[in-house]
Amino acid sequence: MRCEVVAIGTELLLGQIVDTNSSWIGERLALIGIDSHFQTKVGDNAQRMEFCINQALERSDAVICCGGLGPTQDDITREAIASVMGVELRRDPVVEQRIVDLFKARGRVMTENNRRQADIPEGGRPIEQMPGTAPGLVCPVGDKVIYALPGVPYEMREMMEGTVLPDLMKRSGGAAVIRSRVLRTWGQSESGLAEILADRIEALDGIGNPTLAFQASGADGLKVRITAKAADEEAAAAMLAEEEALVRSLLGDVIFGVDEETMESVVLAALRATGRTLAAAEGFTGGLVAARLTRLDPEMETFVGGRLGPWGGAEDSAATGEARAAEAANRAREDFGASIGIAAIGREPGEEVPPGLARMAVAAGGNSATHSVALPGDRTQAREYAVIHLLSFVRRTLLA
Ligand code: ATP
Ligand code: MG
Repeated sequence: MRCEVVAIGTELLLGQIVDTNSSWIGERLALIGIDSHFQTKVGDNAQRMEFCINQALERSDAVICCGGLGPTQDDITREAIASVMGVELRRDPVVEQRIVDLFKARGRVMTENNRRQADIPEGGRPIEQMPGTAPGLVCPVGDKVIYALPGVPYEMREMMEGTVLPDLMKRSGGAAVIRSRVLRTWGQSESGLAEILADRIEALDGIGNPTLAFQASGADGLKVRITAKAADEEAAAAMLAEEEALVRSLLGDVIFGVDEETMESVVLAALRATGRTLAAAEGFTGGLVAARLTRLDPEMETFVGGRLGPWGGAEDSAATGEARAAEAANRAREDFGASIGIAAIGREPGEEVPPGLARMAVAAGGNSATHSVALPGDRTQAREYAVIHLLSFVRRTLLA
């Protein structure tokens, strides 16, 4: 099963809009195992649009057009598809009424042009989901199919998820549901992960389902996405659970979370579960740790306080390097009456170390653990990375 994308809009060619729709669609197609060998961008010109759609239809079993479904004169995707199909456009009264109702509900004035959006090539049908005023289309052409989706990204995505992907799966003789789960990791490089999982990935390549894919997400770590296709929800869930257990047995505790979990949500949850509180000294991260934690803990029940410095005496001590970080962590803990203090501090004035060197400490009771990490990139990047390094350090210390 091959599917290609034709992104429509002169703005795309002029560089006024970046074609993120094609990238997103490409990713989703890959996830369900549909080959996509071409992505085309074409301006709002009837002849060139028809040329591109025809060409795509020759090479592939399905074509996803996005953009040009609006009400204005340059929105001519409907006409181009009808022409490729060799059919007329017919106004769909049900869709027309939906557009009328939508305008009424939003208190907006509807122009005659908006009715054009209810025009559907004969033999095609509108897509059920309609988050905006532009209806999407499913237009069968022999045993192939052309889909038309609006250019507005959230409208496009809703129709992809709700109609196009399930329809493609049905056409490819695939399963009824696709579900994926993201395992979030920190502490292994992409090549490191790939090496550990190499045998499993090779075995899965042979079977084709489920699949494993990596996604680097910078200072959010690396994601391992498991995607399962199955006959029903239950079977997909079982397949995901089984694969997750297997991947966990291989990767161990580099996996810190699942799906929407983040390092800070995981750390806060672990603290809450054990009734502990946290305070931070953030010379290096300049408040980024506090910003991330208070977003999830706005009442500051678990993350009870943070400071940028001075460290209340620690800076006067003779300590250097990691010992200074440990003192700062301890001060933060004492000042805010927290059970755990953490610190990320940078180099001292005049100290001859790289600017990206961060000293980190976790202090609890009378004990503290410290380590140093040389962070790459400019200051902004280094600080972002320091946040997850520090929180990961807390997580490992808490779990130990
Ligand atoms: P509308 O009803 O809004 O006119 P439409 O289907 O005609 O919908 P376009 O006019 O082509 O869509 O695009 C609407 C908006 O959607 C653009 O201004 C742009 O912000 C965004 N958009 C369009 N195509 C893309 C794309 N390929 N990638 C990302 N964004 C896009
Ligand atoms: Mg438009």
